[in-house]
Amino acid sequence: MPDHPPFIEFRDVTKKFGDFTAVNNLSLKIYEREFFALLGGSGCGKTTLMRMLAGFETPTSGQIFLDGQDLAGIPAFRRPSNMMFQSYALFPHMSVEKNIAFGLKQDKLSASQVSDRVEEMLRLTKLEQFAKRKPHQLSGGQRQRVALARSLAKRPKVLLLDEPLGALDRKLREETQFELMNIQEELKTTFLIVTHDQEEAMTVADRIAVMDKGELVQVATPAEIYEAPNSRFVADFIGDVNLIEATVSQKSASGTRLESVCEGLAIETDQETDAGIGDRVWYAIRPEKVRIAHGRRDEDATNQINGLVWDIAYLGDVSIIHSKVGEAEKDNILRATFANVSRMVENPITWDDEVVLAFDRDAGVILR
Ligand code: ATP
Repeated sequence: MPDHPPFIEFRDVTKKFGDFTAVNNLSLKIYEREFFALLGGSGCGKTTLMRMLAGFETPTSGQIFLDGQDLAGIPAFRRPSNMMFQSYALFPHMSVEKNIAFGLKQDKLSASQVSDRVEEMLRLTKLEQFAKRKPHQLSGGQRQRVALARSLAKRPKVLLLDEPLGALDRKLREETQFELMNIQEELKTTFLIVTHDQEEAMTVADRIAVMDKGELVQVATPAEIYEAPNSRFVADFIGDVNLIEATVSQKSASGTRLESVCEGLAIETDQETDAGIGDRVWYAIRPEKVRIAHGRRDEDATNQINGLVWDIAYLGDVSIIHSKVGEAEKDNILRATFANVSRMVENPITWDDEVVLAFDRDAGVILR
C-alpha cells in the first residue's frame, strides 16, 4: 500500500434508502493515478457508492474526501470528478467535436484553448476522422468514445465510469478495455469504474474492491483476488473454482493437512490456518491447478483422487472436464482444465474415462 495519502477516501460511509442499507459503514482508500474497479453483483451498492462520490447521492453518514477536500455540501457540478454514463447522453443535433467542446465552452475557455483540447481528445480517442459527424452517424463503439472524450475534455481529477462498456458486444468491449487502459496511462487521470463483469475488472484495474450487500469483501490487485481470495464469496465470484469441504486434521509450521469430504482425498497444503483441529473449512482450488490424466492414484498419495469423467465443456483453447470423485452416491464433482494444445491428441480424455486428479501443495487456499 502506498505511504502517500489517498486521493479518494470513503470514511465510514453509510447510505440508507428508507429502511434499506445500500452501503454499510464502508471505508476505502483509492490512490492517485489508480485504475480502480468496484466489482459486485446486482444490488451490492457499487453504483450508489460511485454516485455519492459524484455528488448525485448524499451519504446518510460518513465522509468522502477527494484530493484532501471533504466533499460534503459540494454539488455535483462543482466536484472535480466527471461521470460517464452507460447511456452515453450525447447531444444528437451536435457534431462529435461540438459534443466534446460543449462542457469546455461552459467553463469559459478561450476559443483556441477549446479547439486545442478538442483536437487532443479526438486524437486520444481515435476519432479524428469522425469530428464532423453527428452521433446517429456513428457506431455504438464510436459513440462510446465520444462520450469518453467529452467526459475527459474538462480534465477531471477523477473519471467515473458506470458500466461504460455494457452496451458493447464482447469483442468491441475487449478492444475498448485496452483503449481505456491506454488512455488512462497517457492522461494519468485516476479512473474509477463500476462493473459487475469480473473479467472486465481484472483486465482494466490496478486494484479491485469486491462488494457484497453494501460492504467490501476484499480489496486487492486482480492477481491477489484470483490467487488468494479471502472468502468463499470472492473465490466463487471471480473465475471458476472448486470449493472442497474439508476438516483440519494436522497443523504444523510447514502447513496444514485436511481430510476432505470426498472419500480418498486428503489435502496437504503449504498454507497455515487459524482454524483449529477438527474445524470445518473449505479448500478453494482453480480448475487449471488440477492436473488430470488417465489412470488411478497411488494408494497413499495426498492431493490425488480417482475420478470418472462426467462432463466435458469444450471451450476452444481449453476443455473443462468435470469428474465424479469420492463415493459414487455423493455427486462430488471436481473440475480440471485441460489445455487443447494439439488437434492430434493421441489419447484424449473422454466421457466415462477413469482418471486421476492431482494438485500441488501450493495450488489452492484454505477458506473459513
Ligand atoms: P446494479 O449493477 O444492478 O446497478 P449496484 O450494485 O450498482 O447494482 P446500486 O444501484 O448501488 O446497486 O443499488 C444498491 C441497492 O440500493 C439496490 O438494492 C437498489 O435497489 C437500492 N437503491 C438504489 N438507489 C435507490 C433509491 N434511489 N431508492 C431506493 N433504493 C435504492
